[in-house]
Amino acid sequence: MKNVVLLGSTGSIGTSTVKVAEDLPEHLRLIGLAAGRNVNDLTAQATRFRPQLISISDASRFEELQSKAPEGVRTCCGDEGLLELATLPEADIVLIAIVGTAGLPPALAAIRAGKDIAVASKEILVMAGEIVMREAKQHGVRVLAVDSEHSAIFQCLDDKPQSSVRHLWLTASGGPFRTTPREEFASIGLEQALKHPSWDMGQKITIDSATLFNKGLEMIEARWLFDIEMPRVRVIVHPQSVIHSMVEFIDGSIISQLSTPDMCLPIQYALTYPERIGSDRVQTDFAKIATLTFEEPDPHRFPALNLAREAGTTGGTLPAVLNAANEVAVEAFCKQQLSFPGITETVSQTMARHETQLQPSLDMILEADRWARMKATELVSA
Ligand code: NDP
Repeated sequence: MKNVVLLGSTGSIGTSTVKVAEDLPEHLRLIGLAAGRNVNDLTAQATRFRPQLISISDASRFEELQSKAPEGVRTCCGDEGLLELATLPEADIVLIAIVGTAGLPPALAAIRAGKDIAVASKEILVMAGEIVMREAKQHGVRVLAVDSEHSAIFQCLDDKPQSSVRHLWLTASGGPFRTTPREEFASIGLEQALKHPSWDMGQKITIDSATLFNKGLEMIEARWLFDIEMPRVRVIVHPQSVIHSMVEFIDGSIISQLSTPDMCLPIQYALTYPERIGSDRVQTDFAKIATLTFEEPDPHRFPALNLAREAGTTGGTLPAVLNAANEVAVEAFCKQQLSFPGITETVSQTMARHETQLQPSLDMILEADRWARMKATELVSA
């Protein structure tokens, strides 16, 4: 039995994690839950699972949380609430599925408290991958991937040394605009961008999948998770999203991990690792899938990939700048203050104005994040 703390329990990854916990009551116990503002769903989950502690990040909703929490479940709020959850003495593993950068401090707190972490929030490794992986090594804890691509690579690597790897191949669905001509990009609206062809996800990551920034962030994430240089991390478009990613070894052999797309599978693997536990939830019917196809990503229509490669290769504070500028730009696009190509343009211009600091401390990274948000906001208003 593993005691699990789940940060971001009301979101897309959070609710899939709840399903996995329901599937495996003999193996997983949810002992802590956190949400941003959604008191109703959080307290419904608390009623179902009776965790020790629940937290709401929006402090203005704390009173409501206290009044609705089931008896015997402790409540807390804000950033302190996330830190308390991340370091709960009984927790074995902390799954972080908070959208945005708020997951970084609890991730580091959990590592320092000797907990394994399961990472869905890409921002954590994109911003501070070097620091997070170094601290995890120092404290002897695991950083397990929840993202389907990184889970696939982790499964394919199966503890083989990095020196036996030629390339890591991240597969990309290509998003809703895989075949859309460039001339039409300026008129893409929010509703179109939110229609992902193969995955049902939160709003931010769905827009990132449409610009391919999601794949860019994943490239940087892979670079740190698997301690491999950026040129060896490759992307291939695979519209069916059945092959979740691949490892090409130095002898030319390629190993991939496949299934119908369902986030419950990588979540379960991260939470039960190193065991594989029986579950009927995900079924894959190859006769129905019939065809698997592959394409080169188009860097002209999707410049996000090259921007991410540049940020990941340069390192230092630049990935944090890319991430923060993208968050600001996506929010502006969602509020209809920015066009679809404007997202990539804003990130590119913010990166171009940044003086990268190499080997930064956590404070320098957080300062770069703050600076990039300010600069990107200025660019959007201009
Ligand atoms: P959602 O928007 O669906 O959910 C976000 C969750 O985070 C919600 O529970 C939300 O609470 C909570 N939250 C937001 N801000 C805070 C905060 N400050 N403190 C505590 N909780 C907060 O996002 P997703 O589940 O789609 O994505 C979560 C992360 O996982 C992202 O980083 C994404 O890139 C990554 N990811 C997602 C995948 C997917 O399939 N969805 C796949 C791989 C990675 P509330 O509901 O109250 O607002």
